[in-house]
Amino acid sequence: MAYFLASACPLPHHPPNLISGGLLAQAVSLALPPFLLVPDREHWGADYVDCGGNVQSPINIDTAKTIFSPQLRPIQLSGYSLPANEKLSLRNNGHTVLLELPESLAITGGYAQQYRAVQLHLHWGSSSGPGSEHTVDGRRFAAEIHVVHYNTKYDTFKEAMVHPDGLAVLGAFLEVGPRENPYYQEILEHLHKIQKEGEEVLVSGFNIAGLLPTNLKLYFHYNGSLTTPPCYQTVKWTVFNQTMLLSHEQVRQSNELSLSLQVCTIRVSHLGLAWLPKAGCTLLCSHRSPYRCQYW
Ligand SMILES: [Zn+2]
Repeated sequence: MAYFLASACPLPHHPPNLISGGLLAQAVSLALPPFLLVPDREHWGADYVDCGGNVQSPINIDTAKTIFSPQLRPIQLSGYSLPANEKLSLRNNGHTVLLELPESLAITGGYAQQYRAVQLHLHWGSSSGPGSEHTVDGRRFAAEIHVVHYNTKYDTFKEAMVHPDGLAVLGAFLEVGPRENPYYQEILEHLHKIQKEGEEVLVSGFNIAGLLPTNLKLYFHYNGSLTTPPCYQTVKWTVFNQTMLLSHEQVRQSNELSLSLQVCTIRVSHLGLAWLPKAGCTLLCSHRSPYRCQYW
């Protein structure tokens, strides 16, 4: 079996600049209705120095340019199956829906170091288009899940996020499939209770690994950044090859909520293609035939 290695983009040796006030969002166009007024990423670089860096995520994964790495090992997860009596906070933070994860969840294989989970969130589309952040050969997917982890050598997520080896995010694409996805339903069935920013609901524990592909051997890997300000270039990204399937109704449900969010996802669909990695950035692949997925 074939897997990968992480080399990659140059990482900053200076400590990332902290935010010192300033406007976060600028309107893309005054002609847009208020809920479509979104952060203008073209100008992020001015307010957030790291947003203008060499390894800004998300990227378009150009499969023809990936480099096969036999050193990439399957991702291994531990502690992802949670009992129903463990309650998790699901929150509408105004940009996305975020599920807090207990520290017992961890990545124990596939990365050079161990990473502890902190939260997961979803990037959805809207009636105007699909909402995944990464694209593959220019193709954008209905939605994308990000499971955010930090390196166990640091005490907290906040401390880890400013170090080059601080964060690991597992990403997977969501598409419409033939049937309801019971794992995603554990989240989606609560969305009607958190329609407004700041609202929160408790969700019973379930097998969080069910939100990710069963095949954790096939993926793309690159060193990138947080996809929104402060854009710290400290994320080791894994984007899985296999897509997750949700029913049409489930995708519709989630897109509906995104209209009430201020929405990073709409930002993506309106501003077009993801940023391309600049020179010197290496995108690695855990498999030889770049992107072969039965649903493509
Ligand atoms: Zn994200």
